[in-house]
Amino acid sequence: MPLSLSRRWPLRQLTAASSLILLVACAQHPTAADALPLAPAQPNPVVTLPIAPTEASAEIQPLQTFAQWQAGFREQALQAGISPSTFDRAFLGVTVDVDVIKADRSQPEFSRPVWEYLEGALSPVRVRNGKALLEKHAELLARLEQRYGVDRSVLVSVWGMESNFGQFQGNKSVIRSLATLAYEGRRPAFAQAQLIAALQILQNGDIQPDAMRGSWAGAMGQTQFIPTTYNTHAVDFDGDGRRDIWSSSADALASTAHYLQSSGWKRGEPWGFEVQVPTGFDFWLADGSQRKTVAEWLQLGVTLPPGNPLPSGSQQLSAALLLPAGARGPAFLVLDNFRAILKYNNSSSYALAVSLLAERFYNSGFIRGNWPKDDLPLSRSERIELQTLLSARQFDAGTADGIIGANTRKAIRSAQQSLGWPADGYPTHRLLESLRSR
Ligand code: CA
Repeated sequence: MPLSLSRRWPLRQLTAASSLILLVACAQHPTAADALPLAPAQPNPVVTLPIAPTEASAEIQPLQTFAQWQAGFREQALQAGISPSTFDRAFLGVTVDVDVIKADRSQPEFSRPVWEYLEGALSPVRVRNGKALLEKHAELLARLEQRYGVDRSVLVSVWGMESNFGQFQGNKSVIRSLATLAYEGRRPAFAQAQLIAALQILQNGDIQPDAMRGSWAGAMGQTQFIPTTYNTHAVDFDGDGRRDIWSSSADALASTAHYLQSSGWKRGEPWGFEVQVPTGFDFWLADGSQRKTVAEWLQLGVTLPPGNPLPSGSQQLSAALLLPAGARGPAFLVLDNFRAILKYNNSSSYALAVSLLAERFYNSGFIRGNWPKDDLPLSRSERIELQTLLSARQFDAGTADGIIGANTRKAIRSAQQSLGWPADGYPTHRLLESLRSR
């Protein structure tokens, strides 16, 4: 999806808060932005994760009734070119959806470790289903590759990650969910823009109001596009005159291909590959903002696992070093196509899952490094405590909101450096205990 709000907001346009942890926390998808530094700080195109709510936001009380809000919003929609009949048909019987409010305000205390997230994402049954669909849709996928330049295995992988190949698209009314979020969600302006876009989709006749279903955050169909992404990137590839990402696999896969192409996908290039990092390495370099050519990384001592060949032609490609579980876990050099996947969902865990799942369809994509399974992610309360202690120790971690973003990561690195530890910016219980005792 270009973004799934539910899983996050499907709004890829939302800015993702980044915390790896948050992302990893989501069951199917990481929901919050990744804490991994790889995630760009810009708004995410397709999907967007909701920003972590503040304590106060849980107490939000609308100043007007839903009916009052709807009357005011109707005027705005009409000014934006929505016809009265489109609006009234879409809003027929629409009420506030309490479950959407709950989902919007939930702040999970515990996060799922990245290795568990990957285990679920790369389940044998999903791999098997993906292989079968690669065969079943071989002719379509060949045409999509030719047209958009995006590898067929990645298209099928995104399809599997977003909706389990179309099986789990979300069954909530998109208009109702977005109206609820526009009325009393944490990001009303965003929801309102998505709602206008959703009304435009209805007005264009691509889908009927009853069939316009999606996640609680408004991510729709097999691609889990938010409405604005739908309007810019959905494709009618089967030629029936409607862009149907709900029931046409051809339209859904083409829409995904179009979106990835627009996100900078480079034909024929790999997403990245696993590497090993030497002891004594400067872990400040393991940050999404530090891009070097693959050749430069190799000169810095990064190597490939024994027996793994360097992808041909990759020496001069620009890469970042990704450590999904810190210095003790597996390491990857990730290239431009990995960044294109991040535009779909701004989570390094998600992009890694998509990349590895695509390889699993060809019986590769197995990780050689070991996950630090004794190092469980900090809970939300612990992350807040860590941030508070860091700032108290003169390592400015920014707002203590439980989100491990760029500021917190930098503070963690500085604290690690002062302790003589590898400065990987990864929050651990060991670091928290060390700060507590100082
Ligand atoms: Ca179509």
